[in-house]
Amino acid sequence: MTILALAWVSSAIGWAMAESRGQSSLALRLVFAANIVFHPVVCLIAWKRWQPLRVVDMACLVFAASICALCMALRLYAPVYGARIDLEPLYLWIPVIYVFAFTLMDHKSSLKLSLLILALFVGIGLPYLVLRPDAPHGNFTVQLYMVSAILIAALYFFSSYQHRFQIAQLSASELARLANTDELTQLANRRSIAETVSAELARFERYGGAFSLVLIDMDHFKTVNDQFGHAVGDQALVALAARAQEVLRDADTLGRWGGEEFIVLMPETAYIQALQKASSLCRHVAAQPLVGDHTVSISCGVTTVAHGDTADVLLQRADTALYAAKHGGRNRAEGLLFNAAPKSP
Ligand code: GH3
Ligand code: MG
Ligand code: MG
Repeated sequence: MTILALAWVSSAIGWAMAESRGQSSLALRLVFAANIVFHPVVCLIAWKRWQPLRVVDMACLVFAASICALCMALRLYAPVYGARIDLEPLYLWIPVIYVFAFTLMDHKSSLKLSLLILALFVGIGLPYLVLRPDAPHGNFTVQLYMVSAILIAALYFFSSYQHRFQIAQLSASELARLANTDELTQLANRRSIAETVSAELARFERYGGAFSLVLIDMDHFKTVNDQFGHAVGDQALVALAARAQEVLRDADTLGRWGGEEFIVLMPETAYIQALQKASSLCRHVAAQPLVGDHTVSISCGVTTVAHGDTADVLLQRADTALYAAKHGGRNRAEGLLFNAAPKSP
């Protein structure tokens, strides 16, 4: 829209200047009039969304190429028939068309379209150059072709380089995503959780602000697999991940630790809050069927970080708490808070 508005304003100014200097002619007036009408019409179509933006863009490109082709034909051939038409400044806009083409499409399509447009201009100028080798605009026309060819080559080079760069960027970020994501549940995988736990431990040692960790294990998951098959077991894992997310805060990180074990990392969460959250997680999971009409439950082991903890120590504590939850009857959360008394020397 902005470009169209600018094109309209520049056409209006160009027309006014041509008129005030007495350089205007019928052909020039027709060209300016076409510009003045075309741009608002296209703006209206784009604004009302009567046509997709892609169609509007292509229409602008075709219009600009046609106007330049017309200007070139008039400039080169009208004098042959005795008419004096000064349209050179208008077809100096030709290079802008190539830049426009390269902003609309991928580099290969843009190259084809730009070469097609260049071929059109060469087709228009060729008879003039061949039939009138001493023609006054011969040099200018040939220079215009050369500049166009160099510009197209440069645009193609930059555009294809940008394309390759984007692909490389994409594959790098895609690789990083794959390395940190569990394929089945799309949650953070073991490696990613281990990294997050280490980062949280380092942050805790430096700045304080305790975090809690919940180890989740699905109860009697073997039975789900045995009764309904491995595929349904997989569905249960995906459904459990989704249901757990419903209870957790955005700040909490849920990941798949392996098999049917999950971990929740709760930043800035004290032990009691984490225990309450884990209990409500158990209730929420068991509240309604998870796959088909089959209800499953989970057990949770909760712990909170203490100074001097390593990731292994922290996870071991959560595992011990989980073991207690299993032995306490499952579908429950148990906690273990590190509270060892300092050893006397
Ligand atoms: P408990 O209540 O004591 O936890 O009993 P359980 O049956 O859940 O026992 P356990 O945790 O040892 O069982 C883990 C089972 O999870 C064994 C394995 O077949 C199954 N399992 C592990 N990974 C997957 C998986 O990706 N998909 C499916 N469908 N099953 C898995
Ligand atoms: Mg297990
Ligand atoms: Mg289990």
